[in-house]
Amino acid sequence: MRSEVRIRFDGSALPGGAQTVLGPAACGPDVAMIEDVPVLRQIEVWVTLERSDPRVPILRALLTQYGCQWLENHQDRYTEEELDAARLLVMQSNGDCQVDGGIVWGMTYDLSEACSVCGTGGRQTSAVFFNGEQLPKLEGQRAGATYFWHHLVDEGLAAELERIGATGLSFRSVYAVMRDQRQVKLRWQQMCADKTLPPMSPRSSGFERDRACRACARNGYFTATDEAPTRFVYRAADLQGADDVNMSWENVGFAILKPDLRDSLLSKPWMLVTPKVRRVFRDAGVTAFDWTPIRLEDGDGDTSSRRG
Ligand SMILES: [Zn+2]
Repeated sequence: MRSEVRIRFDGSALPGGAQTVLGPAACGPDVAMIEDVPVLRQIEVWVTLERSDPRVPILRALLTQYGCQWLENHQDRYTEEELDAARLLVMQSNGDCQVDGGIVWGMTYDLSEACSVCGTGGRQTSAVFFNGEQLPKLEGQRAGATYFWHHLVDEGLAAELERIGATGLSFRSVYAVMRDQRQVKLRWQQMCADKTLPPMSPRSSGFERDRACRACARNGYFTATDEAPTRFVYRAADLQGADDVNMSWENVGFAILKPDLRDSLLSKPWMLVTPKVRRVFRDAGVTAFDWTPIRLEDGDGDTSSRRG
């Protein structure tokens, strides 16, 4: 794994331009990308370094010295071998193939066992319904998601996931809701996880909490990578009953429960899968998801992304 930081600043805000800081910080073209953005009257500079690189604090100090503001983005980069050896991977839609689907489009949930304040933990009881005007977004794609992270796969991928015997997985139908309210059934399926994992370890990092439910505290999670990479840490003992396809206990986003479910806003869990499941997407050339290995918390508190 390579843990890197990307530092972005506007070179035109510096006297003498970007080289005023890049030179003294020894950041050459191998790590610095400079792009003239005339429409913004900016010289956009991206410097990518390993987080432990001594040039990182030097560059920050120089930018501070010249009063130049910057943004940081911290990311862990994994090799194919590391992804393939992970205990579980967080499968997250990266926006490449996303459609507007959910309760607004007629999806229903049984909230009898959900949090009565925010609705988190509700059980989906309908097929997936999404905005039919976005049907072209699925053309030429084999997998995607709704904005609320209902994971969608074409019938070929669904058959392959069945063939490999992925545990904890079930499927639901997918419908496009047309302008005249017609519901058109697609040759796609929703990937559903039967089980929800126990909560993550408190050693997880790179998250921000915003408007978490006061009753259940399960939602209000957001990934925040401006100071540290997002790391999903679990206690090994909590994963003993994990399937090939699972949902996280934590939910992303906040939730507002209204008397009519259609007017509500629900938060969404992460989906966590084994490398066996990821291989199906990888071999099909699907690019619509980012994959992040979870880390396991050892007895002494050390963490590792390797199979324990
Ligand atoms: Zn709640």
